Amino acid sequence: MPAGNDIGSSRSSASSKKNAHCSFCRKNYRDVGPLVEGPGDVYICGDCIELCQSILEQEQRRRGPSKQLFNKIMSPREIVAKMDEYVIGQESAKKVLSVAVHNHYKRLSLGWEGSEVEVEKSNIMLVGPTGSGKTLLARTLARTLNVPFAIGDATTLTEAGYVGEDVENLLLKLLHAADFDVEAAQRGVIYIDEIDKIGKTSNNVSITRDVSGEGVQQALLKMLEGTIANVPPQGGRKHPEQQYIPIDTSEILFICGGTFVGIEDIVRKRLGERTIGFGSGLGSQEDATTAEILPQVTSDDILEFGLIPELVGRLPITTALAPLGEDGLIKVLTEPKNALVRQFQSLFEMEGSELEFTEKALEKIAGRAMEKETGARGLRSILEQVMLDIMYDLPDKPKGSKIVIDEKIVDEGINPQSFKMPTSKSA
Ligand code: ADP
Repeated sequence: MPAGNDIGSSRSSASSKKNAHCSFCRKNYRDVGPLVEGPGDVYICGDCIELCQSILEQEQRRRGPSKQLFNKIMSPREIVAKMDEYVIGQESAKKVLSVAVHNHYKRLSLGWEGSEVEVEKSNIMLVGPTGSGKTLLARTLARTLNVPFAIGDATTLTEAGYVGEDVENLLLKLLHAADFDVEAAQRGVIYIDEIDKIGKTSNNVSITRDVSGEGVQQALLKMLEGTIANVPPQGGRKHPEQQYIPIDTSEILFICGGTFVGIEDIVRKRLGERTIGFGSGLGSQEDATTAEILPQVTSDDILEFGLIPELVGRLPITTALAPLGEDGLIKVLTEPKNALVRQFQSLFEMEGSELEFTEKALEKIAGRAMEKETGARGLRSILEQVMLDIMYDLPDKPKGSKIVIDEKIVDEGINPQSFKMPTSKSA
């Protein structure tokens, strides 16, 4: 057939085929008028063209704002101010991150083609104990910059052991977060947790290198450095017939985090025993030293810890988060924009009631979290436990009730008299 997608000829050829119908809405050309023909017996009617047009316009409108992402690049100070709203403490990590991220996006927005110096991308390594806010920092950063964000776990990549499979699924997560806007995804942030376990199987926690998963490591290294990865849109294993979405990872910012248990000993050794030991009143002596020591972590210590050199080389910026002390945990409970205490208070507000915590109660909750040694991560479950009976009773209480959570309630649970009923009108 001659050039099929010329409208004039399509019309005649469609009309000449008695049964020609629109491949989208299945209606016959007699009902919907002239059809446009594509290669291989494919037709589309005017109505469907209009519909497609409006879908595309809608999509463009929806994606509009993300395209203007880099009109203004936030200064490091602005980035830190924004992070302060959600993340307690960790000043040095915030500073390092804000500068790295500012430079990264400046490099992207201004482009370095014209300049003689090519500014290299700087992926970031976050070292810090569980529940100190590594994931939260990365997530807050992405939210601050209004870029797509995805979280992955290095151990699952290793264990899958299928070359290039899961690593690309990380990019797929980012694509999902970007609503399949490839351009936005290519400027996103990916956080990879448990990077300290890379190259080791989960049941082999020795620091010796394990050769299993070597292929995955290579794929991960390439991705960190910058490559065009073929992402299967449905995820899962690759197979030859599948269509891939090519994603350029050279402008994606990778933030890798790990607990690096015991790394403070390596730092301590490097610094020499003499420099430590003068307590700073940051809680127990052990905490004080860890909190003091951790910020001094360098790439060399991470190498010494046993991470493969190729990986360390691709994460040139290293920064550490200190474990949160009791004071820090109390702040986590009350200060961030979406602090746990505020969340419960707004649940109370929805019921027309009021909720308050005494200082002592907060200290008690923080103290319990300290015992668990899971940092701020343990706070939620402790608070949920304390609040369970109260939340169970709340909807049955009259509007205007008030409850003050003191340390006794934290210890022993609620007693029915703890609810202060409204005094005047509703009584
Ligand atoms: P990590 O990745 O370091 O193990 P997360 O960032 O996942 O820890 O922290 C778990 C939870 O604890 C977060 O969702 C957050 O609510 C809280 N949290 C941890 N650290 C902080 C912090 N520095 N400031 C505020 N909240 C924190």
